Amino acid sequence: NQSEEKLDEYLDELEFLALTAGASVDKRFIQKLTQQDPKTFIGSGKAQEIKEYVKSNNIGTVIFDDELSPSQLKNLGKEMEDVKILDRTNLILDIFAQRAQTSYARTQVELAQYQYLLPRLSKMWSHLDKQKGGIGMRGPGETEIETDRRIIRDRITLLKEKLKTIDKQMATQRQNRGKMVRVALVGYTNVGKSTLMNAISKSDVFAEDKLFATLDTTVRKVVIGNLPFLLTDTVGFIRKLPTQLVESFKSTLDEVREADLLIHVVDISHESFEDQVNSVNQTLMEINAHQKPMIMVFNKIDAFAYEKKEEDDLTPESRKNISLEEWMKTWMSKSQYPTVFISALNKENFPEMKKMIYDEVLKIHIARFPYND
Ligand code: GDP
Repeated sequence: NQSEEKLDEYLDELEFLALTAGASVDKRFIQKLTQQDPKTFIGSGKAQEIKEYVKSNNIGTVIFDDELSPSQLKNLGKEMEDVKILDRTNLILDIFAQRAQTSYARTQVELAQYQYLLPRLSKMWSHLDKQKGGIGMRGPGETEIETDRRIIRDRITLLKEKLKTIDKQMATQRQNRGKMVRVALVGYTNVGKSTLMNAISKSDVFAEDKLFATLDTTVRKVVIGNLPFLLTDTVGFIRKLPTQLVESFKSTLDEVREADLLIHVVDISHESFEDQVNSVNQTLMEINAHQKPMIMVFNKIDAFAYEKKEEDDLTPESRKNISLEEWMKTWMSKSQYPTVFISALNKENFPEMKKMIYDEVLKIHIARFPYND
């Protein structure tokens, strides 16, 4: 069943997010509803089932793969007693808080956390032991939760001012980079953007098999052939990226918005890579960067798994039964962009990819300096 497969993939991702945040996952609950319950998100029967399981197995946290409304959060908290309720937004914010390295990223994350917190003040975790801490409690902590909303509003104003100042500085920095062609790596989180950045620019950007290893953008000067250009690694996109974060990562996304060429990196070994491509395209549309020249780089061909189906196997075709060659054919013919299949790890097909980047950068370069070449 297709939709069940999808649900599993969504929960795989949520589990990966939870692991990245430092939690281990014990059990998954799925409920199919045509509409979410406005009071408790899930139905009361399911809530009861989770409550009992959590109680008898000594589970500390329940995570929902969606953003809960302030009242849903409050009601679930009351219902489940002694358990921390997190939603997808809160979880992602927590990971960002752990991973923010620069003062800019920290300011952005703090702002997003306060914006998330404000409507939920006094409703969250009011039933919990304040000293427990842990996931979802980093950043603006429990002590602030009791303080006046006004103080948080003031803090939000202050953080916004601070970000405005940094945004201006960063805009100036980008201007000062002059007329060099700017190329931005975009893609879903964990597809291999940093690895590719390192491989192309021979630099040492942090790459890790966790979500959102990169929060801050890194810019490197790269030369292919005799052609210099600037290459930027950007924050990974993800399905249902909290709106608070989209807004607060404005400057990071400006790198994408102001790039001359996008390299869209895809992890072809990932089961739902097509969803990820769509999700990235959706975000590009939202930030109005979807009409830029683009190269599609399908990465991790070394890790591509394929189950060849026997002739007499009557189970329906699934994505696993499609070979890499078939995917290549499909994407080469349907993609409107130059498309290449590589392994950033083994540097497989690198000459082909570099030639492609060179050609595209050269086009932009020539359009910019028509008399120089
Ligand atoms: P980012 O979040 O898009 O920047 O992804 P990273 O560069 O941090 O890579 C995420 C994970 O994928 C890391 O564990 C990398 O080692 C791994 N990875 C990157 N490229 C490849 C590849 O071509 N093949 C394989 N098998 N793994 C890769």
